[in-house]
Amino acid sequence: MSIATIEVSVSALLHNVNLFRQLSPTSQIMAIVKANAYSHGKNKIATILDRVVDYFGVARLEEGIELRKIGVQFPILILEGLFLHDCPSQLVDYNLQTVIHCAQQIETLRKMSLPVNSLDVWFKLDSGMHRLGFRPEEAKDYFQQLADLACVKKPINIISHFSSADELNSAQTLHQMATFDLFINSIDDQSLLGKQSIAASGGILAWPMSHRDVIRPGIALYGVSPFSYSEANKAIAAEFGLKSVMTFKSEIITVREHKKDESLGYGLIWQAKHDTRLAVVAMGYGDGYPRDILPDTPVWINDRLVPIVGRVAMDMILVDLGPQATDQAGDEVIFWGNAALPVEKIAAHSGMSAYELLTRLTERAKLRYVD
Ligand SMILES: *Cc1c(COP(=O)(O)O)cnc(C)c1O
Repeated sequence: MSIATIEVSVSALLHNVNLFRQLSPTSQIMAIVKANAYSHGKNKIATILDRVVDYFGVARLEEGIELRKIGVQFPILILEGLFLHDCPSQLVDYNLQTVIHCAQQIETLRKMSLPVNSLDVWFKLDSGMHRLGFRPEEAKDYFQQLADLACVKKPINIISHFSSADELNSAQTLHQMATFDLFINSIDDQSLLGKQSIAASGGILAWPMSHRDVIRPGIALYGVSPFSYSEANKAIAAEFGLKSVMTFKSEIITVREHKKDESLGYGLIWQAKHDTRLAVVAMGYGDGYPRDILPDTPVWINDRLVPIVGRVAMDMILVDLGPQATDQAGDEVIFWGNAALPVEKIAAHSGMSAYELLTRLTERAKLRYVD
C-alpha cells in the first residue's frame, strides 16, 4: 500500500551526513530535526543519527524533551532558547542545551538556583539577521553577565545565523562573519569561549569560511538545496552530491476516459484538447501537496513525467496520462523526490520554497523508512 506516503531513504540520509564530513572535516555536525525533521519524522531520524552526528538541534523545548523521552543520548540544543513560560530546570532534568539570545533569559537563569555548572548554553550573537540574538554593541557585556552565572558551564559556545547565505553574490554573509569575529576577538578572557557555530545549509554549501566548529545542516541533511531553483540556475541538491531523502508518492485510484473539449475538476479550469486518459490519484492538499501550482506541474508515473490537470483538491489530483496510456489503478505516482523530479522543481512550480513544501506535509501522509 502506498497511498500518500513519505518514503524516507535511510541510506540517502547517511550519505548526506558523510558528504558533510568530507566538506567540513574538522567541524562537528548538528543535525537539525525541528519541525518533525522537516516532515521526515523527528524521533526516527534522531534515533538513526544518534551517535552518527554530534548534536541535534530543535526549535522548542518540547521537541528536545520528546527526543530525550524516546532515548536519544547525544547533545540536543534548543535553538530558540527558553520561552517565558518554560521552566529552566527542565533543561537540567532532560540534559538539554539552550541558546541564550536576550537579557530576559539571563535574568531568568539568575533568579533560578540551578546547580553549579549544570547548564550548557550557546550565546547567540545577532551578527546581522536582526531576529534573535544580542546586538554586537551590547554583546560583550551580556556575555560577561552570562559567564558570571554559576549554573552556566564554561566555556560558553557562540552561535549566530545568516540572513542571506543563499544569495551567493551578497556581501551580507561576509559582513556577518566579520561581525562575528570582531565579537570573538573582543572577549578579554578567551578561555571563556567555547565552540563557534554559524553555518546552516547555505553556509555549509556556499561559504566554507563559515564552517567553524559546528555546522548545522537542516534542509541539506534531507538532500534538498537551500538555494532557490530556476530553469537558469538548476540549483538542486544533487549538484552538490547530496541525495534526496524523501520520496513523496501515492498511487492511482482509477484510470478513466476523457473526451475532447470536456473540462474537469472544481471550477472546470482545464479543458482537454483531444480525447485522453486521466489518472485520479490519491493525493491532495489534505496531505500537504500545494493547492496553488502552475498549470502542467509534473508528476512521475511509469518512467515518465505527466502533467497535473485541473485544480488540486483536498484528497485527489487528476493527471493527464495521454491517449495511448496503459497505466492502471495501483500504479505508483511520485510527486517529488526522484532524480527527474526533485522537490526544488515543485517549489518553482508552486511559488513556495522547498522548506515550506516539506514542512507543510500533514499527518495523513504516512511515513515509511526504506533501505
Ligand atoms: C533551521 C535552522 C537551521 C537549519 O537551517 P537550514 O537552512 O535548513 O539548513 C540552522 N540553524 C538555526 C538556528 C535554525 O533555526
